[in-house]
Amino acid sequence: MARYREAVCRLCRREGSKLFLKGDRCFTQKCALERKAHIPGEQAHRMTRRPSQYALQLREKQKIKRIYGLLEKQFKRCFQEAVREKGITSENLLRLLECRLDNVVYRLGFAPSRRAARQLIRHRHFMVNDKVVDIPSYEVSPGDVVKVRDKSICRDG
Ligand code: SF4
Repeated sequence: MARYREAVCRLCRREGSKLFLKGDRCFTQKCALERKAHIPGEQAHRMTRRPSQYALQLREKQKIKRIYGLLEKQFKRCFQEAVREKGITSENLLRLLECRLDNVVYRLGFAPSRRAARQLIRHRHFMVNDKVVDIPSYEVSPGDVVKVRDKSICRDG
């Protein structure tokens, strides 16, 4: 499945806020946003005018997409599902994003970032209800048991 392969710190710099995409590094002085707190790219100086309402909404959408590590097509599919479901679309969207397996693994503290969680899942280190799941977008339901595979636990020391 497609995924973003470029430098992730650029995404934070583009949004002008920390998106915490790199785990522990985000909490240190090495954070790129601490060192270069301006929009990346040569044309950055041209983007100083007041943003329109559309631009503000676009940036917020991009922020959510980037925080959860989705590409445009995946995010669009998720949004369409949120629209289809009953209830408030924004709440549905948030629930769908929060229920993704990569997010749950990250929130449980098994990985320092969603990106790292995604990789661990792809490498088949996690089980949901005693079955190995290697799909980061797998939707976890209330009551599901997420655990590390026995084979993946390091028992040294
Ligand atoms: Fe963003 Fe983390 Fe990179 Fe800082 S270190 S710019 S918070 S991804």
